[in-house]
Amino acid sequence: MKLNNDLAKALNDQVNAELAAAHNYLAMAAYFDSADLPGFATWFRAQSQEETQHAMKFYDFISKRDADVTLAAIAQPTQTFDSPTQAIEAALNMEQAVSAQIHALFGMASDHKDYAAQSLLNWFLDEQVEEEDSFRNLLIQTRAAQNDPWNLQVLDKELAARPTDPTPV
Ligand code: MG
Repeated sequence: MKLNNDLAKALNDQVNAELAAAHNYLAMAAYFDSADLPGFATWFRAQSQEETQHAMKFYDFISKRDADVTLAAIAQPTQTFDSPTQAIEAALNMEQAVSAQIHALFGMASDHKDYAAQSLLNWFLDEQVEEEDSFRNLLIQTRAAQNDPWNLQVLDKELAARPTDPTPV
């Protein structure tokens, strides 16, 4: 079944939104590297990689449904923050915005009775619940540790355990 043109356009916009998220999280990784918090940097690098995988899920769906994938420009990400907490607040805001985008896409897929698109978007609805929860937890932990250098170091060590692909050498 050919993709509806409006839905194809909206799914393409989401490819770009996920790539923009990947770009923003990589910028946050660079911020944490600059701030000498390599564990946070690793965690954000892994998150950036996950966003690229999200983009590719939409990319493959569009392509397999015989529509065209069209990439657009990505704005320069913010790379300076006043504190680790501020960076993570920005990340949580971004995930909340992505959740709203996925909801809107699901509504559009429902309007067009595109059940395959709804199935894809069901995965993303669940994923956004996980993403928001994960950033909210990180924010709580970072807020608790931010005024205590020792606790911040302990948290940084914990975050370093998140696997990245490939593992940095
Ligand atoms: Mg995503």
